[in-house]
Amino acid sequence: MRSFRISVLVAISSICSPAALIAQTEQPVKDNLQYTLQVPYPVQQITGVTRSSVKKKRVKNVILMIGDGMGLSQVSAAWIANRGQLYLEQFTHTGLSKTTAANKLITDSGAGATAMASGQKTIYHAVGVDTAGRDLATLTDIARQKGLATGIVVACSLTDATPASFAANNIDREEEEEIATDFLESQVDILFGGGRRYFNRRKDQRNLLQELTDKGYEVLSSTADFLNSRQSKIFAVVENGQLETAPKRGPVFQEASIHTLNLLKAQQKGFFALLEGSRIDDMGHMNNLPGVVEEVLDFDQTIGRVLKWAAADGETLVIVTADHETGGLTLLDGELTTGRVSGKFSTGGHSGVMVPVYAWGPGAENFTGIYENTALFNKISALLKLK
Ligand SMILES: [Zn+2]
Repeated sequence: MRSFRISVLVAISSICSPAALIAQTEQPVKDNLQYTLQVPYPVQQITGVTRSSVKKKRVKNVILMIGDGMGLSQVSAAWIANRGQLYLEQFTHTGLSKTTAANKLITDSGAGATAMASGQKTIYHAVGVDTAGRDLATLTDIARQKGLATGIVVACSLTDATPASFAANNIDREEEEEIATDFLESQVDILFGGGRRYFNRRKDQRNLLQELTDKGYEVLSSTADFLNSRQSKIFAVVENGQLETAPKRGPVFQEASIHTLNLLKAQQKGFFALLEGSRIDDMGHMNNLPGVVEEVLDFDQTIGRVLKWAAADGETLVIVTADHETGGLTLLDGELTTGRVSGKFSTGGHSGVMVPVYAWGPGAENFTGIYENTALFNKISALLKLK
C-alpha cells in the first residue's frame, strides 16, 4: 500500500507545472518518499590538485556552480543513491553560507543569487537591484569591464531568477519579458539555457533574438548547433521554457558547460562562468524526491567534468554552492549498498538553513568558515582582482 501511494504522488507531481505546485506550497507530502538509483556512476579521483599545491598558483578563471535549492540533505540523498560516492567529496575546502534576504529570513533565488552576484543583500524576488531598486553591478558586469570573458549556462530559462541576477536588473523576477531585454546590454559572451518565448513571442512584438543577432551574437536554438559552434559571442536558447528534467535531457547541461569553458578559455583573457543546476529547486518545490536526486546527480557529474577540466587548466578556481535549500528535505532511511534513499519534505517552499560552499583549485583556501552569501562576491572579486 505504501509503495502504491508513493508512486501515485510522484506521478501527480511530474504532470503538474512547477508554478502550480509552488502556488500550493502549504501542504508538504506526509508519507516518506523513496528512490533507488539503478545504475550508479563511477567517481574517478581527480589528480593534480592538493590543498598545498593550489596556494602557489594565480587565479585566472573562476567557475561558480550554483545548485538551486541544493542543501546538505539534497547532496546527502544523491550520495546515498550513488552508493556513497560523489565528485563533490573531492573538494579540498568547504564553508557555510548564510542565505537570508534583506527583508525576509527565507530567501528566494532572486535575492540569493543577487547577493552572490553583487555583494549586496536585496529584497525578496529582486534580481540585480538593491533594496531601493537601483541597478547593481554584478560579477559578470565587472569581469567584462576588466577585460575578462564571461559565460552563463543554466537548465532553466535564461530569464529565470538566478541567471537574471547576474545579467539583468529588475525589482520583480516575474517580469521575464522585461528581464529578457536586459540581455541586449549585458554583454555576457556565451549564454546557454531556455526561455526562448520571452525573446521572440512577446507582448510588445519585438524579436529580441534578431536584436541580439544585430548586436553581434550568434543566436542558436539547438544544443547540437551550440556544441558545434566556435564563435566568441553566442546566445543559445534551446527551449521555449525550461530545459527538460535530467533523465529526459540527458547530458546536455554537462556538455554545454564544458563547451562553454572551452570557448571562454579560447579568448585567453581569463574568465568568470556561472553554471547553474537549476532544476534541483523545481523538484524540491514538487516534493519529488526522485527528481531531486536525479538533478543533483546530473549536477555532480557536471562537477566531475568541470574538475577534470580545471585540473588540466591549473589556473581555475571552482566553487560550488546553493542559493538556499528547497523543500526542507529530511533523510530518514536508506542503504549505501543498494542506493535506496528514503526521505520526507517539510515544505513546498524554501527553508532557512545555511548552505554548503565547496571550493577547489587556486584560492580555495579563502572559502572556509561561516559567512554571509554576499562574501562570495567579495572573495571572487578579490581573487580575480576585479576591485
Ligand atoms: Zn525555488
